[in-house]
Amino acid sequence: MRIVLLGPPGVGKGTQADRLENELGLPHIASGDLFRENLGKDTPLGRQAREYMDKGELVPDDVTIAMVQARLDAPDCAQGVILDGFPRTVAQAEGLKKVFSEFGWELDVVFNITAPEEELVSRLSGRRICRNCQTPYHVRFNPPEEEGVCDVCGGKLYQREDDKPETVRKRLQVYQKQTAPLIDYYRKAGLLQVIDGDQGIAVVTRSLLEAIGGLA
Ligand code: AMP
Repeated sequence: MRIVLLGPPGVGKGTQADRLENELGLPHIASGDLFRENLGKDTPLGRQAREYMDKGELVPDDVTIAMVQARLDAPDCAQGVILDGFPRTVAQAEGLKKVFSEFGWELDVVFNITAPEEELVSRLSGRRICRNCQTPYHVRFNPPEEEGVCDVCGGKLYQREDDKPETVRKRLQVYQKQTAPLIDYYRKAGLLQVIDGDQGIAVVTRSLLEAIGGLA
C-alpha cells in the first residue's frame, strides 16, 4: 500500500501518518522531518533548506525530490509507504510518478485531509514536537502526560520556529498557491479521497482506515 497524505499545514497529517504507521506497519515518511533531521545535523542539505524553512517557503523541487527518492530507496519502503508533506507541488508529483515508475510501484490513494483555516492556525500555534522522535502534541487538544516531555521516548518537546504566527500565515498562503493545485491533479488521476480533518484524532484515523479497507 502506497499512500500520500495531502492537506494544509496543521491539518494533522503527521499525527495521522504516525497512527497509520502503527496500524498498517508501513513507514511514515515526512519530507519536513527529513529536512529537520538535516538541519539538526547541520548537513549541507540542512543548511540549504534552512533559508526556505525559516521563511515558511518551499525548498526547491529538485533538492526535495532527490532527498525523498533517496529515502524511498531504503529497504524498509519496499512493502509500502505513507508519504506526509510530499509531494507539495505539481513538479514534485511528477517527480514522484517518475520515481514510482522507476521502482515499479503504483500509488494507491491520495487522502486530502481538510479543516477550516481558523482551526489550522489554532492547532499550529499550540503544536509541540518531540526533539528526539518528532512525535507531535498539542498543548490543549493532545497534551503529553507530563508537560514538555514526550510520552513515547521521554524526549523534550519544543515549538517549531515556523509554527510562530507570521510564518504560519505565510505557510498557509504557500499551501494555497503551490500545493492546493495538487488536489485537482490527483482528482483527475482518479486517486483522490477527501477526509474531514475537523474531527477528533481517533475519528479521523477511523475514516482513513475505513477508506483504506474499501480500497482492497
Ligand atoms: P512540514 O513539517 O511538512 O510543515 O514542513 C516544514 C517545512 O519544510 C516547509 O515549510 C518547507 O520549508 C519544508 N518542506 C517540507 N516538505 C517540503 C516539500 N515537499 N517541498 C518543499 N519544501 C518542503
